[in-house]
This record gives sequence, C-alpha cells and structure tokens, in this order.
Amino acid sequence: FGPERVNSRGIDFSNRQETAALAAAMTTAAEPAREARPIINGQGATEADGTWAEVCSPTDTAQHVGRVLWAGHEHLEQALASAAAAWPRWAATPVDERARALERLADLYEAHTAELMTLCTLEGGKTLKDGIAEVREAVDFCRYYAVQARRLMGEPTPLPGPTGETNALQLHGRGTYLCISPWNLPLAIFTGQITAALAAGNAVIAKPAEQTPLIAHRAVELMHQAGIPGDVLHLLPGEGRRIGPPLVADRRIDGVAFTGSVATAQQIHRTLAERDGPIVPLIAETGGLNALIVDSSALPEQAVVDVLRSAFFSAGQRCSALRLLCIQEDIAEPFLAMLRGAMDALRVGDPRWLATDVGPVIDSDARARLEAHHEAMAAAGRVVHRTPLGQAGERGHFVPPSLYRLDAIEDLQEEFFGPMLHYTTWRAGELDSVVERINAAGYGLTFGVHSRIDSHREMATRSIRAGNAYVNRDIVGAVVGSQPFGGEGLSGTGFKAGGPNYLLRFVNERVVTENT
Ligand code: GLU
Repeated sequence: FGPERVNSRGIDFSNRQETAALAAAMTTAAEPAREARPIINGQGATEADGTWAEVCSPTDTAQHVGRVLWAGHEHLEQALASAAAAWPRWAATPVDERARALERLADLYEAHTAELMTLCTLEGGKTLKDGIAEVREAVDFCRYYAVQARRLMGEPTPLPGPTGETNALQLHGRGTYLCISPWNLPLAIFTGQITAALAAGNAVIAKPAEQTPLIAHRAVELMHQAGIPGDVLHLLPGEGRRIGPPLVADRRIDGVAFTGSVATAQQIHRTLAERDGPIVPLIAETGGLNALIVDSSALPEQAVVDVLRSAFFSAGQRCSALRLLCIQEDIAEPFLAMLRGAMDALRVGDPRWLATDVGPVIDSDARARLEAHHEAMAAAGRVVHRTPLGQAGERGHFVPPSLYRLDAIEDLQEEFFGPMLHYTTWRAGELDSVVERINAAGYGLTFGVHSRIDSHREMATRSIRAGNAYVNRDIVGAVVGSQPFGGEGLSGTGFKAGGPNYLLRFVNERVVTENT
C-alpha cells in the first residue's frame, strides 16, 4: 500500500531562510486581485447567464481578494454535455497515462506551494501551518490515487473457472462525477475528490464551496496544465442552493462525491433516489459530534495539548475537530485549570502571522451561528472560559476559543463548526456507558481516548462506532495513506478518503468470461 510513493515534505518554520523565502513568495502572490469563473472545455467561460460576486477576506472584510462569476444554467448545460461526450475516451485512456497526469499535478502543486498557501490564507482564513498542511494533503492525494489506480485498474484480475473458460474482473470509470467540496479544506478535499474520480477514469464537474472559488479556480488551471483534458474536467463555481439541485437531478451525472453538512448529504441522496435514470453512487463525508475521553491515568500535559489542537486549531473548522470532552471526575478540576491556562496562551488573530494559532471563521453567517450558540450557553450559565481576542482585528470574523460545561453528553445534539468545546465529567466505572452514549448520538467520525490503562483503551476503541479512533494523541489531521479518513452513521457513507478502497466507489466492475 505505499512503497511506490512517499508523502510530501513540509516547511521548517524554524529555519529563517526557508520562512524568509516563503514570506517573499507569499507577498508577491498576494498582489494581483484574482478572478474566478466557470472553466468549461479548458477555457474561462464568458458571462452568459452568470452573475458576478465579490470575494472578501475573512480576516478583514474590507480587504477585497477578487471576484467570481457564478455559473448560470447555460454553463451547467455546456459542462454536462461536454463531460458526457468526453468520459468514454478518458475511461479508455491507459490508467498509467491518467496516473502520470496526477503525478505531474502533484509536482505543479509543490512548485506553486507559496501561491496556493497565499490563497488558502487570503480566501480561506487559514493559518500558515494549516496552509502548508493543506497543500501537502492535496499533493499526497494526487500521488496516492495515482498509485491506487495503477494497482486496481492496471491489469484485470483473473478468476477461477472450469477448464476451457477464463474469467477476468475489470474495473472501469462510471461516467461523469459531480464533486461538491467544502470551504474548510478548499484545496485538499477539492483535489482529493477530483483526482480520485479522474484516476478511476471518470469525467468531473467540480462545484467548489461558494466561499472559496478562487483557490478552486487556480487548482483547476493547474490540473489542466498537468494534462487533464479540458473536456474531462469542468469547474462550476456557484451558490450551492441554486446550481446544486439541477446538477444532482441531471441524469448525465453518474455519481456524486460530497463533503459538507448532513442535511445537504441527505437532500442529495433523496434527489438521486427520485430522479429518472440509472442508480448511481453517493460518497458523502459529513460532520461529527467527535468526542475525546480522558481518564485519571492520562498524562495531563499531553492530553491538554491534544485537546487544544483538536478543538481550537483550524478555528475548530474541521469535520474531525473535537466537540465533546469527557473527563473522569477525579482529575477534572486540575485538568480544567490547566486547559484554561493553555487556552489563554493561544493567539487568535491574523493568519498570516506565524505566531497565530487560531484564525478567523469563514464568514459572517458562521460567526453569527457560533455567537448565537455562545449566547444560549451563557444564558444557561454554562460558559467556563473564553480565550481573550487580543490582537484579532475587528473587521475579521474572529470567534474566541470557548469552553462550555454540559450536564450530560446528550445535551450536545448539534455540531457547532468553530472553536467551541463542550465537556462533561464521568465517574470511575462509567466508561462503558460513556462510550455507549457517545455512540447513541448517531454520528461516527473521529474519536479519541487518553489513557494509560490497557483495558480502557481496548474497550473504548473496540466499542466506539467511529471511522477514525485515536489513542493518546490529537484527533485531527489524518494523513493520506496512513489514516484513511471518513466516518459511519450520520458522518458519512465511506469509503475512506486517502485509503486503499476509496477508488472503488468511482468504478463499475465488469467480468469478462471467455469460452476458449
Ligand atoms: N481529514 C481532516 C482531518 O483529519 C478533516 C477533513 C474535514 O474536515 O472534512 O482533520
């Protein structure tokens, strides 16, 4: 599962030469105001029936980052017709050729690291560390799926049969995939969905999140430069509620890869079920009510750092982020005191500064939702701590890392997608019931346990229904090829992104039986 490639390297932020070169390259890359528009047949589309919108930075709403032409229905029709005509040719292209295009893309991404990080920071409000992690994950997806496509699709698999009969199992692309991606990992998830679909021999219509069209636009330019044919990959920036439904309902769409909210995944599922035409797969990766259990044997210093990383880094805007901390009562008081102290040491502010730990949330709607939750928690007397905002500018969508006390696990019913952590306590002997109650919420994405007691770790990881269970570490930042990522239940359909089975959701199987 991997000797053919290694994961991409990061940046050594303690090396002055490396950071100075990065800073210079990022300053240059930040200068031109950008423009995103639909890309159809490899060309930036004309206005047709599209409409223009401004793109502003979440760090400073007065900072104009660029503008975007939202796709209109004419763009949708052009992209759907072109992809439908192109995919059989791409599916018949030797897998090695498809894989090599993805490997060229990985090289191009690496060569444009500073520019891509700049876009992640300007448009997505990402800190520098999140920005480089994002580029690396995108690069890793390209190379990983290239390797997996060769492994799965290189040669047909011979199957047994009676004398005089040969049987061979072959995998083929299915058609055109609609890839709908989120703003929280605007390059990595965007690239992961698309490269998986392409590697498996499908055409792609990519619909990026409306908050991050500029980075998607640049990524698609690089994909075409890497050799993905123009008619095989189309970009349709647009408002999800306007262009999502007609795209999903169109019978020329042969599969959907979606990362986003549970409600939207369920809506897509219904639309696919009700439309005329072939029955097609949906790969959905949604949210979670991710929990971390800390027992009295845990190493508190380590657990506190892992809680901070999991709950507050990336401004809590990861599906994998920690939402619910379950602390054994015996250690709760000193543990929470330590956690509050550590929260005060977090720096909230401009994501372009290396010292910043927590940047802004994505937009005013996100901030308003989070602040409304805070108000509700405050009214119920549940606010335990908030990190001071310090240097964070007033024109950015900053939300302070916050800690809330709950009476019971069941008090948290909804995912709040930001730097907001809730905690409950449990008594010795209650571990089984804690795991059971976490499971009862119906989600199943990430989970963690901090314990030095073998039986606790074993019970928790055996009984938890979650796609990614982490022991004595943080619960975010799954690595391609090492921690295939994705959940179960309300958290998603599988297969896992960055894992050896993911491409299987993007293919048809065919058995050829030959009487010789
Ligand atoms: N794969 C990411 C992680 O492990 C999260 C992906 C997401 O937020 O959708 O942190």
